[in-house]
Amino acid sequence: MHTTLWSPDTCGCSIRYSWDTETSEDERVHTFHSVEQRCDAHSGLANDKIHYQHILGENQTKNKVHGAIMDVIPRLKKQQVQPDGTTADVLDPVVQFNWSFKGKDHRRELHVSFAGVTLSKAEVNKLTAAVANLDKPVTIH
Ligand SMILES: [Zn+2]
Repeated sequence: MHTTLWSPDTCGCSIRYSWDTETSEDERVHTFHSVEQRCDAHSGLANDKIHYQHILGENQTKNKVHGAIMDVIPRLKKQQVQPDGTTADVLDPVVQFNWSFKGKDHRRELHVSFAGVTLSKAEVNKLTAAVANLDKPVTIH
């Protein structure tokens, strides 16, 4: 068994999780091990496993919103040549994806806004609908 320290980019908490070294990378199951640090935003989540579920949910919500943008609003998608010569879809470099969480503990909500591009009302509505069932509530501004 191996453990790794994980600090999400969505808050100041640190979690230690473990995985079975016998399993291949794509089959690995990450198992909660311990809370190493609780940030101010999550200081009220006393139960370690619940705390882990919430900070994981926040991080996944933010990442899924970022991933949904190019699917929902294809005009923001650009192709970029990778070091190995293949191309990958990336968010247009002129677009700035801004996000922040408001609220505390299990009630944190993600707020997203964009700079460098103006979304139409229809695009905001489409993106809002696409991210409506994620772990955390999302507001697109
Ligand atoms: Zn936290």
